[in-house]
Amino acid sequence: MSENTESHPAPTARLLTLVSCLLICSAASAQDQPSKNLPYSPSLNLASMDKSADPCEDLYQYACGGWIENNPIPADQSRTSTYGKLYIDNQRYLWGVLEEVSQDQPGRNATQKLIGDYFAACMKVDAIDEAGVIPLNKSLEAIDSMADSSDLGMTIGGLIAQTDSSSFFFAVGSQQDAKQSETVIGAVYAAGLGLPDRDYYLADDAKKQENREKYIEHVAAMFRLLGESESASKVSAATVMRIETALAGASLTRVERRDPHKVYHRNSLAALNTMVPAMNWADVFRATGLNPQPWLNIVQPAFMQEMQAVIERESLDNLKSYLKWGLVNSRAQLLSQPFRDQDFAFFSAYLEGIDEQKPRWRTCVSMVDRQLGEALGQEFVERNFPPEVRDQARRLSLQIQQVMAERIDQIAWMSPETRAQAHEKLKKMRDKIGYPDTWRDYSPIKIDRDDFYGNVTLATRFDLHRQLAKIGKPVDLDEWFMSPATVNAYYNASMNDINFPAGVLMPPLYDPKMDAAPNYGNTGGTIGHELVHGFDDQGRQYDGDGNLRDWWTTEDASAFEQRAQCIRDQYATYHVIDDIFINSELTSGEDIADLGGLVLAWQAWKKETKAMDLTTMDELTPDQRFFVGFAQWACAAERPESLRLHAATDPHSPPKYRINGVVVNMPEFREAFDCGANAALIKTDEEICRIW
Ligand SMILES: [Zn+2]
Repeated sequence: MSENTESHPAPTARLLTLVSCLLICSAASAQDQPSKNLPYSPSLNLASMDKSADPCEDLYQYACGGWIENNPIPADQSRTSTYGKLYIDNQRYLWGVLEEVSQDQPGRNATQKLIGDYFAACMKVDAIDEAGVIPLNKSLEAIDSMADSSDLGMTIGGLIAQTDSSSFFFAVGSQQDAKQSETVIGAVYAAGLGLPDRDYYLADDAKKQENREKYIEHVAAMFRLLGESESASKVSAATVMRIETALAGASLTRVERRDPHKVYHRNSLAALNTMVPAMNWADVFRATGLNPQPWLNIVQPAFMQEMQAVIERESLDNLKSYLKWGLVNSRAQLLSQPFRDQDFAFFSAYLEGIDEQKPRWRTCVSMVDRQLGEALGQEFVERNFPPEVRDQARRLSLQIQQVMAERIDQIAWMSPETRAQAHEKLKKMRDKIGYPDTWRDYSPIKIDRDDFYGNVTLATRFDLHRQLAKIGKPVDLDEWFMSPATVNAYYNASMNDINFPAGVLMPPLYDPKMDAAPNYGNTGGTIGHELVHGFDDQGRQYDGDGNLRDWWTTEDASAFEQRAQCIRDQYATYHVIDDIFINSELTSGEDIADLGGLVLAWQAWKKETKAMDLTTMDELTPDQRFFVGFAQWACAAERPESLRLHAATDPHSPPKYRINGVVVNMPEFREAFDCGANAALIKTDEEICRIW
């Protein structure tokens, strides 16, 4: 439902096309002290409400008005939210853990030594600042020493092996074959853009034009930091912009990329060689360790053809400029202060409206989590995730799955044939709760307490090798794609599983101290959300074994689409900022999951409490507590710049609409608050959108 990943040049940018998450947020700090305990806040908080608002007009304001007033956006964040605050609390707690295990003293176990030494090196800012651009020198020399374009494959392969970034034309990885999910194959992805989306290069509205001008200035400033003169840096920046614009023009849109068929082009190495003869692919794969046999997914063939044209058209010097930019852009946050400052000025301050850089400890905690997440996660889980919470969450998940089986039988628009297939898919769906049963072994990574950049590179290589080593081997169904401390959840279509890290199963989200109503509204809704991703407009195209296979009759598929369109039409009317409305073609899967998830949670809650005598508490009836508990997961505030950015890039609708847009389709909500027929959040029965 949400995503706490912090954006922009992540050192390891994995491209998980088949994973649907819950949300996106970033986060920050008030009192700068590591904490020994996670603070408690209840999953239904009266102080977060605005009782002066009418829930039938705006449930989000009613449930979250107080929260928004009490939680100004911190200076180092672009937005803040219930999820984001929990993420910061977790980070602050992990900071305390890392402080403790980063002391170079006997008694640390191997895991503590690994994460402790990594953290210690990351916190040595003086050494990092002193090193300046030195960590990049070898890679810069490799770029400079290219004699002609036949060296491109080896050079780019080397850059990818070192950075695993998506900054150099394309990215490499492994994935389950979409149509043969028991097989893992190599993949070559379209990449190579510095701006957040292809539309930033192509749209001609005034804002995007301004974005481009600022971007060119930023790229030039980075080239100056690499030592280029004022005039040379302008030429380099113009070159980068020209190359990236050409690549953007050949890239699929985010909406197109939601179509699994558009990103599935299983082909041979020979076909790739024919498509892009200018690239020595054997060198690329030798340098990265990718095995292209017997098949590769060439994710975006049209992009590859444009890449060929760019390489033919541009001089070797121009290509060198493009690669240097990719290198410095992907590594800027790991370098000395002038690089970090310049990177912040464009990506964070200008594009997201953030006032201040986040404190160093937050950078380092999130780096440990990103690169060594399952090692850090062991410490987190041991200290914060009791087995009984894991059991409770599993029980809730099974209830939601059971209710989905009932829904499949109840819905009138589906034929018996498709119904049987849907049951089959549901039966095969697995859930993973809290953390992996087997922890990842990071022992090949040798951490040096005095070499931050070197540590990042080693961990990056380790992960790239881990990813690529999957090719040709049986799928590890127990693998997780999020670390245990992550405040987020996801559905993976190829594995057909729903995944809930420990971080998303704690107060104020899942709250064992609270009555059932808000927990079902909140965590029940989240579990339902992930489950329904298996049956949203994208997920429904995969079967129970995780294969892209059409198991729908034509009539049922069109009945589904009609209902999905009802939801898209509804969300397309929602205003975000300026002249921007929700792009509901992009948010469709998430909007479907939000609605379906809460419907499942409601039914599960009703079943669970059928025999119980529930009473009104805090002037809220049990039904009202369900909806307020639901709404409070999404309390949030966001800067205008960030709203604009996320409207273009985030498949999730803004929080307000993830609440109001759901309940408007639930007669149960109308009854819970006794809303009049003319209230803003009330539709007639005929107008209601409902799939599951
Ligand atoms: Zn989602």
